[in-house]
Amino acid sequence: MQQKGWQLVFKKSATLFFVLLSCWQVCSASATDKWNTEKSTHFIVFYKEAKEDFIRQLLNYAESYYDKIAENLGLRRYDFWLWDNRAKIYIYNDSKDYIESTHQPVWSAGYAQVGEKTIYSYPYAKGFFETVLPHEMGHIIFRETVGLTNPAVPLWLEEGVAIYQENSALRQAGWQLKQALRENKFISFKALSTAAPSLMKDDAEVSLFYLESLSLVDYLIKEFGRESFLIFCQRLKELKDFRKALSTTYPFADTQSLGEAWEKYLLQQ
Ligand SMILES: [Zn+2]
Repeated sequence: MQQKGWQLVFKKSATLFFVLLSCWQVCSASATDKWNTEKSTHFIVFYKEAKEDFIRQLLNYAESYYDKIAENLGLRRYDFWLWDNRAKIYIYNDSKDYIESTHQPVWSAGYAQVGEKTIYSYPYAKGFFETVLPHEMGHIIFRETVGLTNPAVPLWLEEGVAIYQENSALRQAGWQLKQALRENKFISFKALSTAAPSLMKDDAEVSLFYLESLSLVDYLIKEFGRESFLIFCQRLKELKDFRKALSTTYPFADTQSLGEAWEKYLLQQ
């Protein structure tokens, strides 16, 4: 009886083991079948049914932005996305597949998980190559420089650096900012420092937040150079104190004097 019981248990366990093994084989096969991969020096693209042409185009764009963003921010000497440290880009089949799988809003063309160094999108998403890809890569590269969870980074600096990477953003910013200044809609530096676009109800105000953030980053880089911007980012990482990083890199004793100098600079443009 005892033996029979053991045999039964063994039989049941063996069956269960076989079922689990089969499932594991099927599941792992489908997990690897699901995503094809294509690699370049700094990126691995995971895709399902996207055309090869698109994947090649994507890798070309991503590689060119990798160099350009590093150069834009003065980070050329760093080369940190190699081999196992490559950034990942997941390309879903289409908008529906992307939205259902990632739970992003329907208008989303792509997004990044900065800590994971991973970007998600689908083939030919609107504005992806020109804006979303460089913007999200900008976020990732910037956070690697100033520290992933550094609380001393104000939102305007975070978004300003990311939007600074978009091809046409800077060209459009000049006249729009002048118009905002003329029409008295300009968000003061003080208000910008604590602003959160997710809480803004007015679309025009949100876009002004991004433009002004971009303009501030552009001002720091144009007036004081990339080398200083890099030093500023490194101090921000070490000190975790925005005012200290600012005052030890730039001729501004505090954030208020940065704001005044920037607003004065804008009026002179
Ligand atoms: Zn952003």
